[in-house]
Amino acid sequence: VVDVFAKAKRSELMSRIRGRNTRPEKALWGILRRLGVPHRRHVVGLPGTPEVVLSKAKVVLFVHGCFWHGHPGCRRARLPASNRVFWRKKVRTNRSRDDRQVRRLRRLGWRIGRFWACRRIDGSCVAVKLRRLGVRMDAKGQVY
Ligand SMILES: [Zn+2]
Repeated sequence: VVDVFAKAKRSELMSRIRGRNTRPEKALWGILRRLGVPHRRHVVGLPGTPEVVLSKAKVVLFVHGCFWHGHPGCRRARLPASNRVFWRKKVRTNRSRDDRQVRRLRRLGWRIGRFWACRRIDGSCVAVKLRRLGVRMDAKGQVY
């Protein structure tokens, strides 16, 4: 297992797919800022350390890297040719952890939205998702 991680590809994979402050995350934060939606980022106290938390609305948003979170049917989620058994197990473990975290969040009364890194994140898709999650904004720009 160790030498799999030692491969040269590692740093590239890790920083691009697993890293904090990735491009899709930044896109999402920028959009929320433009929309005037107050939010917290990378909230460690909640299951899964959600990328975005709207506390009053009780909504969390995740931005999932396609490979590590096993985006179904996605080209970026294809397993490497070597060590397939290892990678399959790894991704499966990640996915069951995601499921567990979602269940815990739901039990705590949170609603959960998910964005995939392969999909373009723009203002309208964020607005649609927030509306579906029941997020509302009053005339003063307060989110609830
Ligand atoms: Zn994807």
